[in-house]
Amino acid sequence: MSFDVSTAARERGIKYFLVSYTDLFGTQRAKLVPAPAIAEICRDGAGFAGFATWLDMSPADSDLVAIPDAERLIQLPWRPEVGWLPADLAMGGKPVEQAPRNVLKRLIADAAGDGLQMKTGVECEFFLITADGAEPADTSDRQMKPCYDQSALMRRYDVIAEICDAMLALGWKPYQNDHEDANGQFEMNWDYDDALVTADRHAFFKYMTRSIAEKHGLRATFMPKPFMDLTGSGCHAHVSLWRDGRNVFADRSDELGMSPEGYHFIGGLIHSADALAAITNPCVNSYKRINAPRTTSGATWAPNTVTYSGNNRTHMIRIPGPGRFEFRLADGAVNPYLLQAAILAAGLDGIRNRRDPGPRLDINMYTEGHLVEGFKQLPLNMLDAMRALANNDVLHDALGSFVPSYLKLKNEEWNAYCRHLTQWERDTTLDC
Ligand code: ADP
Ligand code: MG
Ligand code: MG
Ligand code: MG
Ligand code: MG
Repeated sequence: MSFDVSTAARERGIKYFLVSYTDLFGTQRAKLVPAPAIAEICRDGAGFAGFATWLDMSPADSDLVAIPDAERLIQLPWRPEVGWLPADLAMGGKPVEQAPRNVLKRLIADAAGDGLQMKTGVECEFFLITADGAEPADTSDRQMKPCYDQSALMRRYDVIAEICDAMLALGWKPYQNDHEDANGQFEMNWDYDDALVTADRHAFFKYMTRSIAEKHGLRATFMPKPFMDLTGSGCHAHVSLWRDGRNVFADRSDELGMSPEGYHFIGGLIHSADALAAITNPCVNSYKRINAPRTTSGATWAPNTVTYSGNNRTHMIRIPGPGRFEFRLADGAVNPYLLQAAILAAGLDGIRNRRDPGPRLDINMYTEGHLVEGFKQLPLNMLDAMRALANNDVLHDALGSFVPSYLKLKNEEWNAYCRHLTQWERDTTLDC
């Protein structure tokens, strides 16, 4: 029998449900449904006007309905009378093809057709800043190399411990929390799982972190590069692929413990990397994190070039241990569902077309990158990435009508950005 939300509401004391979906730009939209009405909403869905959110819809469209995925219920640990339900979008009785969670579910079904399941873990870096967004909130957090700073971490113990306690209670198996490489920046790690489970948790983690920070009078931001001279916020994804309970990336005979399927999957990511950036680095600001000049800590920890390596953090892909790799391109602005969908689409293409990832590089890419030739550069800005996506057949075929919808909305965003007059232009051009 399927999971009964009304019974769960009674047993766990849930009074309201957030019926929530994530739009193309990663914003979470919700209706707050009282418990007595949730059974009907689970059956018929909650109604929305699609045009009012980032979904590439028209104001003349009929009702958009969000149908909760009841089994993925998460009770808000900081407000237990509320339950969060990720929902899938439909219109006219059919799934909305470009909706991010639907896109990911299609890719997961495609992989399952080959007997494959992707499992991932994400590292969502974030800053704790002042409410007006101007600077890191902790004015004592001033070290030039602030990574793992014990005192700065403990000055934020109340917030970090509350979020970690929440993850423990939810059964996510969190295992470490730290101060990251920028002043005011943190990271909290929990165990990897099925790609859809991780995507739902990733979406919820962002909401939870913002909410709990707010409760403590702070503001949490996942913005890729909020401060030009400090390391930006990445969202690394660790990836393995499973068949019948076995990790098909694991191979003891390889020097790095990676199987031929694993190298082909990596080959797929390398083949489509510039187009992937349009999804994994979705904002104008994203391109100030990648290809960035050295930060005050000494390194940006973000990639510049489409390369892979062993246990070396200066490349786009790192193989930190046997049977998995780390994709370091994505940043804090990435849509949790599209991150997983894009990796899976490119990786499956790599396996199916036996894509060659090319030679592995073991050099320090930041200092010696200019000495090697023949490797692609990552896009320098959002427009280059969007053009790469427009020209990439792999992602068009795998992600379907999502791609033209996304490019249409992102082009509008790019045009809005270009209409913005900056102080830099005035400083450099007034006396032309
Ligand atoms: P690092 O900072 O060294 O990149 P973290 O410990 O911060 O690594 O994050 C590692 C992530 O990788 C965690 O979410 C972890 O659960 C996940 N992970 C570990 N093994 C695998 C695996 N086989 N497949 C997918 N993800 C994995
Ligand atoms: Mg109304
Ligand atoms: Mg980490
Ligand atoms: Mg990190
Ligand atoms: Mg990492």
